[in-house]
Formats: sequence, structure tokens, C-alpha cells
Amino acid sequence: MNTLDDIIIVGAGFVGLTLACALARLNRRIRVIESRPLSEPSYSTDGRALALSSLSCQMLTDLVGALPTHTPIVNVEVSEQGSFGKLHVQAQDLGLERIGAVIQAPQLGEHLLKQAQTEQNISWLSPAKVEQLTQENNTVTVKLEYGQCLSAPLLIVAEGAHSWTRTQCTFATVTHDYQQMAITANVSLTALRPHHAYQRFTPQATLALLPLNEKRATLVLTVKAHDYPHWQGLNDADFLAQAQALLGFKLGLLSELGPRHAYPLQAVFVEKAYDGRVLLMGNAAHTLNPIAAQGLNLSLRDISVFVELLIGVDLNDQNAVTECLAHYQALRLNDQKNMLRLTDGLVKLTARPELKRLRSLGLLGLDVLPFAKRRLYDYLLGV
Ligand SMILES: Cc1cc2nc3c(=O)[nH]c(=O)nc-3n(C[C@H](O)[C@H](O)[C@H](O)COP(=O)(O)OP(=O)(O)OC[C@H]3O[C@@H](n4cnc5c(N)ncnc54)[C@H](O)[C@@H]3O)c2cc1C
Repeated sequence: MNTLDDIIIVGAGFVGLTLACALARLNRRIRVIESRPLSEPSYSTDGRALALSSLSCQMLTDLVGALPTHTPIVNVEVSEQGSFGKLHVQAQDLGLERIGAVIQAPQLGEHLLKQAQTEQNISWLSPAKVEQLTQENNTVTVKLEYGQCLSAPLLIVAEGAHSWTRTQCTFATVTHDYQQMAITANVSLTALRPHHAYQRFTPQATLALLPLNEKRATLVLTVKAHDYPHWQGLNDADFLAQAQALLGFKLGLLSELGPRHAYPLQAVFVEKAYDGRVLLMGNAAHTLNPIAAQGLNLSLRDISVFVELLIGVDLNDQNAVTECLAHYQALRLNDQKNMLRLTDGLVKLTARPELKRLRSLGLLGLDVLPFAKRRLYDYLLGV
């Protein structure tokens, strides 16, 4: 028989778990359906680290509670191989104590899951997969693979970029394959500066280093898809030597390579993120290239607005639900489109060798023009 919850959330990645916690605290009865066993790491919670803006850290703290161990970022340096152009942003120039923080994905995942599991208003179905979705009489009903049916007035799809449930509604989904792979691994460096994050553009790859402590950082190496088999085939010593050649020696010697993870990069965008009583959130609604480390930051801003708008909404009132979803969409669309444009633009700029000069002028310009730098960081900080 049907179980009536207030909201069903499909997907227990960062977005699904954060939403579940925040909505349960508004006294909504939440059902979370997750396809993998909760004890197994997901795409969200594998070995990488995430750079979160100060605003995101504050939102997560407000929505879920104190953050797990994290490393503040006070300085970001962006450079280009073979160019003097350098974008150097310091928290104090922006009147901030820190620009953001680095959190290890497994720790954030564990923390969110633990918080969610203490909420009495959340019930769980895992491992479980949705097989069918229907909407009628102000209710969304999902049928699970073992035949069980669940209904609720609202369904939030937080299944990530390859969402199956998204395909069961009438969402106009635009996808773009960047033909790039991101390889992540933790590394040690002998001259790492504490609380400094780095990004370096080279013709072969883009490198980012997110500081974990005074010695270790997460390396994110983005390479062309057709170069990936080469990188994948390297043993640890050769991988480190080739990454070092791209990074240079300013930060000292690379060593102690941790396990490597790889991700094909694509953009996914759904302009209207709700259909009836089904709402897409997180990567299911917008997947960004991680070049500017903005995917989860953007989703946290979405969640924060949505949770606020849902306060006091009678989920059995069709007009109230439609108004709430439409209002959410109207408030969030600009930010989502801007982030897509920004990340897409950065990828195009790094992918075209003939734009090298323009790119370095751009970076130089940003360093010289505090206003432009401020504008870029307003974007990246989500203010
Ligand atoms: C290399 C890389 C680096 C990144 N770095 C940053 C960064 O520094 N800062 C930042 O803000 N963002 C970053 N991101 C983006 C960030 O990882 C994503 O925005 C975030 O993981 C999205 O979370 P999500 O919960 O929407 O989706 P996911 O993390 O994909 O979670 C989806 C969940 O749904 C479950 N699921 C899927 N299908 C079903 C189904 N049919 N039924 C039930 N459950 C299902 C999955 O098992 C999973 O648990 C990075 C991304 C990449 C690839």
C-alpha cells in the first residue's frame, strides 16, 4: 500500500542529504530513496576534496549544523605556463577572513549522512531504485523495482547528472560533453603554502591544488578525453613526474600520490526545473564543468532559497505548490545560467591555444583591475 510522506527525495548525494536534513527540520516528513547501500561511497563521496565558498560553509552550517574538519583558503593564485599573467586573490583584499574552505568529500558525505540519520522525520529506502513515476490528484507516486509504491505531494529528484527519473517527465534537458576527463588524487608537496589554493593552465591540462594541510593537497588534473588513456596508463612515479612538469617547481616536489579517481566532464542544464510536482535539484538540474569549483556551491544557494520558500506552504494546495516552485525557479534561474556561462566560458578559453595571449592578458588585467577581480570573485563567492 501507499505510504504518504510530505516529500520524497530521490538520491542521497550531497544535495539530497542536505535537503533532507533542512526540510526535516521544518517538520516535513521526508522519505529518501537511494539506489546504493548507504554505507557505500557515492560519486559525491569518493576520494576528492571540494572547495566551498564562505557563503556555502555558512549555509551548510545553518542548514545542517557545524561543519566537519575543513581547511580555510585565504589565497588563490591562478597562473598560466609560459606567461607572466597571474591572478592573485587574497581574502584580506576582499575584506574577508577567508575566501572559502576545502572539505574532503568522504568526510562531508559521512557528516551529512550522520546528521540526516538522527532526524526522526526522515525515513530511508536503500538500496532502492525508482522504476515508474506517475502524477495525479496532487500526488506523485513512484513504483520501486520490487513493486513497492510510495506517494507524496512533492518529489525532489537529486539523482545527479545521469538522472533516470528526470527522463520520466517532460524536462527539456540540454547536455554538452566537454571531451575532457578530470583526474583527482591527494598529493604531498614540499613547498606548499598553508591555506593557499592554486590553479594553473597549460596547453596539455588544467591543474588545481586544494590545500588539505601544510603538506598535502588534492590535485585536480583536467585533460582532454583522448589523452586520458595515456594518463591512466602511467604508474604512480610517472604520473607524479608528468604532473610535476606541468605544475613547475614553485611549490616544491610532488610525492605520495593517493588513489586516483576519474570523471568524464559534461554540462547538463534544465531551464525549467519543475514539472507538476516534481522538482530537479543539484546535478540533476545543472551539472557544471568543475573548472571553477562551483557545482555544489551553486546547489547550496538553490537549497537555501528553496527551503526558505517552502516554509508554511500547504503541500496539498496545488496553487500554493505551483506558486512556490515557480517562485523558486524565477529566483534561481539567473544565478544558474550565469554559473553555466562562466564555467563554459572558462573551459573555452583554456581549450583554444590561439586565445593564449588574450587569456594571459585577461589574467593580468584581473590582477591589475581590482574592480574586475572583485566582479569575478563576487561570482565565485556567490554574492
Ligand atoms: C572532479 C570534480 C571536482 C569538483 N569539485 C567541486 C568543488 O570543489 N566545489 C563544488 O562546489 N563542486 C565541485 N564539484 C561538483 C560537485 O561534486 C557536485 O555539484 C555534487 O556532487 C552534486 O551533488 P548531487 O547530490 O546533486 O549529485 P551526486 O553527487 O551525483 O549524487 C546523486 C545521488 O543519487 C543517487 N542516485 C542516482 N540515481 C538514482 C536513482 N535512480 N534512484 C536512487 N538514487 C539514485 C546516487 O547513488 C548518488 O548518491 C566537482 C565535481 C567534479 C566532477
